[in-house]
Amino acid sequence: MKALDQLTFDNRFARLGDAFSTQVLPEPIADPRLVVASASAMALIDLDPAQAELPLFAELFSGHKLWEGADPRAMVYSGHQFGGYNPRLGDGRGLLLTEVVNDAGEHWDLHLKGAGQTPYSRMGDGRAVLRSSIREFLASEALHALGIPSSRALCVIGSSTPVWRETQESAAMLTRLAQSHIRFGHFEYFYYTQQPEQQRVLIDHVLDEHYPQCKDAAQPYLAMFQTIVERNAELIARWQAYGFCHGVMNTDNMSILGITFDFGPFAFLDDFDANFICNHSDDRGRYSYANQVPIAHWNLSALAQALTTVIDVEALKQALALFLPLYQAHYLDLMRRRLGLTTAEDEDMALVERLLQRMQSGGVDYNLFFRRLGDQPLADALQSVRDDFVDLAGFDAWAVDYQARCEREPNHAAGRRERMHAVNPLYVLRNYLAQNAIEAAEAGDYTEVRRLHQVLSRPFEEQTGMQAYAAPPPAWGKHLEISCSS
Ligand code: AMP
Ligand code: MG
Repeated sequence: MKALDQLTFDNRFARLGDAFSTQVLPEPIADPRLVVASASAMALIDLDPAQAELPLFAELFSGHKLWEGADPRAMVYSGHQFGGYNPRLGDGRGLLLTEVVNDAGEHWDLHLKGAGQTPYSRMGDGRAVLRSSIREFLASEALHALGIPSSRALCVIGSSTPVWRETQESAAMLTRLAQSHIRFGHFEYFYYTQQPEQQRVLIDHVLDEHYPQCKDAAQPYLAMFQTIVERNAELIARWQAYGFCHGVMNTDNMSILGITFDFGPFAFLDDFDANFICNHSDDRGRYSYANQVPIAHWNLSALAQALTTVIDVEALKQALALFLPLYQAHYLDLMRRRLGLTTAEDEDMALVERLLQRMQSGGVDYNLFFRRLGDQPLADALQSVRDDFVDLAGFDAWAVDYQARCEREPNHAAGRRERMHAVNPLYVLRNYLAQNAIEAAEAGDYTEVRRLHQVLSRPFEEQTGMQAYAAPPPAWGKHLEISCSS
């Protein structure tokens, strides 16, 4: 474990040059103080967790101090926002601070979010508020703990710097970790600005540093695109299986690594609702829960379009066609596990779909349903979850088929509880839980955000004294409207 002054840097992306990013220094925020840090994210760069308590930690991650080996840069990209092309986006309120190389030889980007204005800030102030920084911190770490690939969060640093949104709030900085901050929108930028040489440099960079296994393929670029399709299919299957709604699946928010990235008005489903829209500004529901699957495919098509300069169009189409079947296979596999099934039968997808139809708008808490289904022996569990359904006859018919399906499994009762609890979380980052933690933090008390982070870091394990975090949301907590403003 290392101290803050013992890290090794290797700024590969910065070395690509000024066509890809602009050197910008972070603008510090006043009176920096640690709100919350993630020991497991710190471990990714071999940092001793005790370092988070040092004043130097808050100074480094609030823009007051800069490592000598850092080369902070705002990256340029573009992207499709709500279906329309925006030719120039880029890091408007964030900086790629540096790339750290850990003892295992892995590179981790440190990205400072809320670091002040950059050439890409347009009308924005370059700041992030405490509220959105806490939400991103909790979500990154909670998704990771659920086994859903995500960018990670090292820490949130709060400040007394005022920021104006709908009302006056305070500025914060979040340090994000990812093995790359390259988005689909990076490729679109070089494609639409017609810079084929620079685009080639970017593609080779991603191939060399992030998809080296594809270099031996007959067509390395195509193999890389196929892998990106596969990773996204798996990622979206995990989101859908666990009820995670991203909220702003613009192509500038899609990571080239296939990880959850750029958190805005995200939400986990409370009651199951396929049409749920978590983003208050998404009038038409483009990014509703159910639409995440076709939208991911659409986003991959936008990436494919940008890659037509180096990959044959027919080959790109074939790779894109893999998305849906791969998604369906991953999703079904996850849902079988959530239902405690260990074998596969042809009718399983229909069984899942019929369950979701019965849950639809019936006030059934999506994640708690699966947890409770594994809590007791099968017949008792079915009896206990039954009360939540509006369509009791419909549920009973499903329950008969599900019970019969379980009984066709070899030895189905053995280890059922452990097997199901290992994949069905007891603790989920519900919006109202985040809201409680934010309100306390805004009043200067960080104990709640730290406790919630700890609880969510072991979502499958029952933790003593933490029953309140496993409860279904109160009525006020179910319909919180989260806007894009952050
Ligand atoms: P997002 O909604 O976070 O995906 O951001 C979309 C684009 O707007 C990105 O280019 C951001 O850098 C930029 N942006 C968002 N908020 C701000 C802000 N407060 N100041 C400057 N740029 C911002
Ligand atoms: Mg974004």
